[in-house]
Amino acid sequence: MPKIHLLDQRLCNQIAAGEVVERPAAVVKELLENSLDAGASQVEIELEQGGSKLIRLRDDGLGIDQEDLPLALSRHATSKIAVLEDLERVASLGFRGEALASIASVSRLQLTSAVADAAHAWQVSCEGRDQSAEVKPASHPRGTTVEVRDLFFNTPARRKFLRKEQTEFGHIEDAVKRIALSRFNVGFTLRHNQRATLQLPVAQTQAEQEKRLARVCGPAFMEHALAVDAQAGPLQLHGWVALPTFSRSQADLQYFFVNGRCIRDRLVTHAVRQAYRDVLFHGRHPAYVLYLEIDPALVDVNVHPTKHEVRFREGRSVHDFLFRSLHQALADVRPESGGNSAATAAPEAFAFSGGSAAAGTAQPLQQTPVWQPSLPSTGAGGGIRPGAVAEQVAAYTALQQAADTGDAEIPPLGYALAQLKGIYILAENAGGMVLVDMHAAHERITLERMKAAQQSGDVRRQPLLVPQSIAVAEREANCCESHIGLLQQLGLGLDRAGEELLVLREVPALLAHANLEQLVRDVLADLLEFGGSTRVSDHLDDLMSTMACHGSVRANRRLTVPEMNSLLRDMEATERSGQCNHGRPTWVQISLPELDKWFLRGR
Ligand code: ADP
Ligand code: MG
Repeated sequence: MPKIHLLDQRLCNQIAAGEVVERPAAVVKELLENSLDAGASQVEIELEQGGSKLIRLRDDGLGIDQEDLPLALSRHATSKIAVLEDLERVASLGFRGEALASIASVSRLQLTSAVADAAHAWQVSCEGRDQSAEVKPASHPRGTTVEVRDLFFNTPARRKFLRKEQTEFGHIEDAVKRIALSRFNVGFTLRHNQRATLQLPVAQTQAEQEKRLARVCGPAFMEHALAVDAQAGPLQLHGWVALPTFSRSQADLQYFFVNGRCIRDRLVTHAVRQAYRDVLFHGRHPAYVLYLEIDPALVDVNVHPTKHEVRFREGRSVHDFLFRSLHQALADVRPESGGNSAATAAPEAFAFSGGSAAAGTAQPLQQTPVWQPSLPSTGAGGGIRPGAVAEQVAAYTALQQAADTGDAEIPPLGYALAQLKGIYILAENAGGMVLVDMHAAHERITLERMKAAQQSGDVRRQPLLVPQSIAVAEREANCCESHIGLLQQLGLGLDRAGEELLVLREVPALLAHANLEQLVRDVLADLLEFGGSTRVSDHLDDLMSTMACHGSVRANRRLTVPEMNSLLRDMEATERSGQCNHGRPTWVQISLPELDKWFLRGR
């Protein structure tokens, strides 16, 4: 029988290092967090060979006292919490006191630090194996430098898992960018193999912050970004979300910070997806940089050693809050009066509708549109209807009059002039020319109307002729029982008929033909995981979306000028009218300066 014995300190640290230090980027993240916790305002990072040869990080933070230096390298040694209550409302990024010890156990580490009024700095070094650190005097301004050389030199198994230098560097750069987005009041520089690769000065003003954002997320994100600012009780959300027209094929531009800590969380991802659901193509991912501020007591950050995950005490209200705030922000996107000057006619939020459309830089959406315009049959498409000319003259006169009588008269999308190929409406507004995809626009308007009607009245229900039994787990049955009221509101009449049996008696009328059993299961799964469910309304939305698509003007139908104008006015009054139900834009603006450019006309 093998004997049980205690593991020695070094081995413990190396085991722990496996969790905290998986690759060079993880070291950089931990060191950066320490610098931020120490109140640094400038952090300089230097790397060699993707961080595996050298990671040196220097800050101008509070520094570490001489007698604390050896302790900083021991496991479970921290200055950040002392008692359990501290853990429950921890505001610092670190608190587990294991990062430096873990890193030191798998590298050659040197820590140099000076506090504000010390005569000079002090330094400790240690080399994987020997953990008894000796403190020597050194020279260093106030602040701390940590030097990590030869990462994993004593753990060959780990070293083998290191990727190419550029790959590891890429991960480090991502880590630095994430942290840089969390602290605009700190400056960061990153050098790799003696070359400066990232320089982010302190960003105080709005303009400076937007510059950093553009540097980190790319200028295109900034151009399509919509500022978000919402508050409900103890929850505060601000930041930027990209318009649906700037969606991504990967979920690679999604930053979410909870009290300044970057996290990845299923509940958050789900809430954001929901908010985008009827304005985004399937398979596309929204882009966002969002900051949630919440009472630290309402969120548990001690879920995982890397602290990438959190657990919200009241997940449901957080989910609802995120969903509602973002849904509203996206809903508010509609044509706005941008004044009369050509330059401002396309509101910033609609950047895609300006130059990008003409210049072809708008994010191309690869999917085939659900709706295919039927080409006009010979003759019919190009012909001019009797009366059309008179209508156009009338419309043009209206526009002229509006222009003459003053400025505020012209509505944002202007007045219709003509219909193009039975597909597009050509209109003139203060900024120049507007093109509208009439089917896409009408579809959105119809959908929003149906949704409003659906929401204003109670959900129309329909009893099932034969009630349907559904076998579920006891957990699900309990959940169903405690949410009977909520399920009723959704239009689902469910009763518990046994330990593990439910009976479905009533469903929303529109969904009578859906796969009801699956729907109920999905709803219960959502209730268990998120405390709420949008399945039924999702289904209704999907259904209404299909109905709206079929109920809207098809291509190649001739509209009269008054009909076209009323469509334009409807668009201005409709939420989310910037995109159709499939996420395609419904209109584009082509400004006068752009037209001038086409004709090389100087103005
Ligand atoms: P934690 O951050 O969880 O406390 P670490 O092992 O990362 O644990 O750091 C241990 C301690 O060393 C910290 O609590 C802090 O007091 C000190 N420390 C580490 N890095 C710095 C730094 N850059 N500036 C000042 N103090 C630091
Ligand atoms: Mg730390």
